[in-house]
Amino acid sequence: MKKPSTNNKIKIGYQELTLGIQQSNFQNEIDSYGEFDHRKNSIVITDNLSDLDYSCTLIHEIIHAIAYYYGLTQSGQPLDSDSKEEIVVNNIANGLTAAFRDNPFLLKELTQRLHNVR
Ligand SMILES: [Zn+2]
Repeated sequence: MKKPSTNNKIKIGYQELTLGIQQSNFQNEIDSYGEFDHRKNSIVITDNLSDLDYSCTLIHEIIHAIAYYYGLTQSGQPLDSDSKEEIVVNNIANGLTAAFRDNPFLLKELTQRLHNVR
């Protein structure tokens, strides 16, 4: 699998994030496959994941970033507790990953259509 360089940028809403790969290390704070950090404006994915796990983790962290930057995690909003946010993010990420895996034309078609919008 081709890995992104540590300087890859990913734009989510008004923010531009750094997308990086981090070695799995039991001493760091990443106890999952990935992490969205709104203070650092970054998404970090653990290295050496399968293509399926990498894809699902990246989609998962992007949804966390969307939830944060669009205010869904603010007090009184639908994802204002960590447990609610994690359940919703996890299930949407798993569902989208499966839909993209099971329907290979989808990403190509969306890419083509969205590039025509500009
Ligand atoms: Zn999560």
